[in-house]
Amino acid sequence: METNLNKVLGEMGFDSSLHDTIDSQLTSQEYKERLTKLLQPILDQRFPGTPPKRQILPKHDRINFACPYCGDSMKSDYAKRGNFILGGKHRNYFKCFNCGEFKRIDWFFRDYKTELKLDAVNYMMDNLGDFSTYEGAKYDMSVLLDMEHLDKYAIDRQELLSYFGLVEVKNSPVWSWLTKRLQYKEIKFLYNPNKNYLLILNLTPTEKILGAQKRSFSGTNRFETYKLSKLYEIMKKPLEVNEEQMNYLDTLSMIFNICLINFSKPITLFEGPMDAFLFKNSIANTGANKELPIDIPIRYFYDADETGRKKSLEHIEKDHEVFLWDKFLRQINMPYRKKYDWNDVLIWAKEKQIQLPLIDNYFSGNPLDAIDI
Ligand SMILES: [Zn+2]
Repeated sequence: METNLNKVLGEMGFDSSLHDTIDSQLTSQEYKERLTKLLQPILDQRFPGTPPKRQILPKHDRINFACPYCGDSMKSDYAKRGNFILGGKHRNYFKCFNCGEFKRIDWFFRDYKTELKLDAVNYMMDNLGDFSTYEGAKYDMSVLLDMEHLDKYAIDRQELLSYFGLVEVKNSPVWSWLTKRLQYKEIKFLYNPNKNYLLILNLTPTEKILGAQKRSFSGTNRFETYKLSKLYEIMKKPLEVNEEQMNYLDTLSMIFNICLINFSKPITLFEGPMDAFLFKNSIANTGANKELPIDIPIRYFYDADETGRKKSLEHIEKDHEVFLWDKFLRQINMPYRKKYDWNDVLIWAKEKQIQLPLIDNYFSGNPLDAIDI
């Protein structure tokens, strides 16, 4: 720590021997406020004509703002993809998800000729993320997700299994139902043989359970979702986090696959987890009418039904990339039906032994392509 700090102080033109005489300790809140206060004039100067771009949004474990390096989105004054990351392994780094700029917070300020006060430097160095090579992390958007934090609160598989009377799906009656739907990743599911329901799981990289969707095979309410706090509640486990953290955990618990994707590649959002499980680098947020609550660049793959088409139209109007079902179905000659989802396409293609064309060619963010939705 001492070496690090001296290095920073040296780089900033300070006499490192000063360090010993400085005794002031910032709280994390004071530190956050300090950064915001120093950042504001930089944004004011960078975006004089666009007030929305000058606005700073404090978030859970980060400070979010329009990136002054690239100017952020040309299309929207409200897009904010610059972040001071304050938690997780990349804490105290700046990261832009538009241009990819990634550097320590003090280096960010140095670029804008702004001096970080020594107590802030102290705080930063005492709380610096614990990774050493940031070369490969340049395009690693997972910095937004604090995996250790998520993993700590996610539920152990065995614990869930025994509490709910679940069994592994392989060798259970539901396995043939799953494989008929081309779902071969048994780790993603659990089954309750007594109550005859399937649990579709949102897993962390260590295969702990962050959230789940229940699919019943009888009754009226066939789909139910279980965010993390609800699982804790049912299992009568105390979830010892504050409200902000709980919202954060609950939000991510309902975005299936969110912990498992590569943020440097295109991310596709589906309505249902079972579709997302069958598509490279994709997430699902259980339902067409839910907007994704976190701000990452994605393309939209809604179901081919009335709601899905409506949502696709809304998004392509905003230049967001959506899947062009109509163009795609015409291309592969799939017969008309009132509703299709991605899983249906794969099952159909397998039955007919049809080689599907390159799916990437059927996404568009050009409103002129709305006719092909
Ligand atoms: Zn940028």
